[in-house]
Amino acid sequence: MVRIILTTLVLVASFTGCWGLGFGTPSPNKWPLSVLEADEYLRNHSQIFIPRRVINVGEDIYSAIGYALANMIMINGPDGIVIIDTTETMIDSWTAYEDLRNEIDDWTKPLVAIILTHFHTDHYVGTFRLLEHAETQGWNVRIFTHETTLDEMARSSVLKLYASRRGTRQFGDALVLGQELLNAGIGLESKHNDTIVNDTLVPTDTYRDNTTVQLAGLEFELMRTKGETDDQTSIWIPSKRALFCGDNLYEAFPNLYAIRGNPNRYAKAWYESLDKVRALGAEYLIPSHTEPVVGAAKIAALFTNYRDGIKFVFDQTIRYMNLNYEPDDIVMQVKMPPALAYHPYLLEFYGSVDWSIRSIYQGLIGWFDGDAASLNPLTKKQRAHKIKNIATLPAMLENAKASYDRSNANLASSGFAINEELQWALELTR
Ligand SMILES: [Zn+2]
Repeated sequence: MVRIILTTLVLVASFTGCWGLGFGTPSPNKWPLSVLEADEYLRNHSQIFIPRRVINVGEDIYSAIGYALANMIMINGPDGIVIIDTTETMIDSWTAYEDLRNEIDDWTKPLVAIILTHFHTDHYVGTFRLLEHAETQGWNVRIFTHETTLDEMARSSVLKLYASRRGTRQFGDALVLGQELLNAGIGLESKHNDTIVNDTLVPTDTYRDNTTVQLAGLEFELMRTKGETDDQTSIWIPSKRALFCGDNLYEAFPNLYAIRGNPNRYAKAWYESLDKVRALGAEYLIPSHTEPVVGAAKIAALFTNYRDGIKFVFDQTIRYMNLNYEPDDIVMQVKMPPALAYHPYLLEFYGSVDWSIRSIYQGLIGWFDGDAASLNPLTKKQRAHKIKNIATLPAMLENAKASYDRSNANLASSGFAINEELQWALELTR
């Protein structure tokens, strides 16, 4: 229990150094936020997803937000319905789909296509529920993915059990929503299916770099835009000037590294993809998490800031690597400039600058930090035994408690926990 509390405090404390913005309102004088203030900002962030609702974006485009971790998006075309992403559960997928279709009050139009932006479960599992219904109606539904999507699924499936355990910890599945868990950063919470979904996704159409296709009487362009995943697809409807960016942009700092574990997400490719879609000059931006954005100037500025946030972290990591800094030291050096750190879409509700730096380092050069002492490290157990030989267990526990108390005293007097003390208490007690 103590360890859980310590871990939570370390995480909260690490966030507080990075938040400087009220919910949607720049407030540089509030930098950095105290733990209580940070908690309040995170609470406010939940309002994006509550209540669950269908947002009428305009141009016959609708986004169902708050039903599950990811949104379901509907385009009501002249000759049919196109769905983009289907959420992570069968039940929530159906509820979102019902509400989307009821919004236009027309169940006669066939569902003609489902476009999946990438292979993550929160974007495709609900597909099977929609296909079940389509079959009863005699509708022939095309399923679009990038050509690597099935390979990505297969690659991640070898670690399915382990990844699922790590995923439940990242998303705080064991915590009570609204009390212990405020939100999951890019959604209120990650949902789960009641039963195991054994269906296999079978795309009917794939593409390599980009493709143009007529669906429901509209022209759609599908573009490979490597970012949060390598199979990330952005969708562009030129006639509506509407862009669907998948998970390459949401209202939180990008998850350049997911602590549930993921293959390296190449930050440079991610920000280059943002430049690519920004050049389209979209009037409507409909992300697969968080709310749609309307207005060309607003969208262009948003893409610019989001791109700059990723590029800054990437460039600074490279800079310090070339100066022979090790990852722990780079983390201490790289701090986002206020203009980016205060930006509402770059607050560290989901991704973290520190964890991104470590991931960029490892993605570029591997796990070895160049220090010979890191080549054959002791295990945690070996190290603990050896430290115990030079410091008694009671002394270590006393030291851990002293660090914990120092941080708590600081928290009580100033509103700020002390990361270093909490981390030391964690290391002594793990
Ligand atoms: Zn997602």
